[in-house]
Amino acid sequence: MTRTRLALGALISAAVLALAGCGATDAPSASWHGSPAPSGSTGGGQDGGAQARPISDSTAQAATGKPSATPSSSAAASTSASPSAAASSAAPSDGIIRQAGGAQVALTFDDGPSADTPKLLAMLRQHNIKATFCVVGVAVQEFPQYLQEIVKDGHTLCNHTWKHDEKLGKKSADTIRADLQRTNDEIHKAVPDAQIKYFRHPAGNFTPAAVQIAAELGMKSLGWTVDPSDWNTKKWSGDQMTQHIISNVRNNTKPGAVILSHDGGGDRSATLAAYKTLLPELKQQFTLIAMPV
Ligand SMILES: [Zn+2]
Repeated sequence: MTRTRLALGALISAAVLALAGCGATDAPSASWHGSPAPSGSTGGGQDGGAQARPISDSTAQAATGKPSATPSSSAAASTSASPSAAASSAAPSDGIIRQAGGAQVALTFDDGPSADTPKLLAMLRQHNIKATFCVVGVAVQEFPQYLQEIVKDGHTLCNHTWKHDEKLGKKSADTIRADLQRTNDEIHKAVPDAQIKYFRHPAGNFTPAAVQIAAELGMKSLGWTVDPSDWNTKKWSGDQMTQHIISNVRNNTKPGAVILSHDGGGDRSATLAAYKTLLPELKQQFTLIAMPV
């Protein structure tokens, strides 16, 4: 019995560690925490497989919110495995949405708003593309006017916690609830009637408690299937980063994809440059949507 419990405990610990590692895929934590990805991060390991498929795999795993038992569960597999056209209303058993819906593709931008947000908004406007913005409370506090522009342009809002706490999901229910509520309150301070129907845990570190509390606050948990790692400014910069983002998104985006990128949390000039190229291409190939509210 004891032995079984110990074994189970070890298994769970391993699972949690694995999750923490993959989870570092989101999040330019550097800007929020003053250091690159947390020490347990597999930033190096994951980045070692910088080419499309490995990143995609680890990303899908991160977005799943649990270590995958099937190494073959790639982003492509998870995308095509779900026949549901109305993914947003038919969430998988873990409660995390990873499908834009049918053949549609959702662009999601995290960690803003920031000084770069208006530039991204202008590009989206130019192409008449709607996206989803996972905003951080302290960033909303700093740039309420950009939050207002996001809403005015018809994009969807997503709660990305008060100050990008990558460990929030493991804290007490009261702490999680207070953090998410404080973030929603800050959003409503900027836009009183804003609808906040989505929650994305920083670094994809969703926990059942966080997913449940978000649901109690009226928010569906939103994962992703494509992560071009535009947060990893330690590995790529400048034009190299731009080209990396472009090729990663080109290679991995499939019908139903939810693409993770960042409009805040650090220097986003490479992301902006990449999307200048990507937006017209993606628009031609896919129907780009804001996650439905
Ligand atoms: Zn983030």
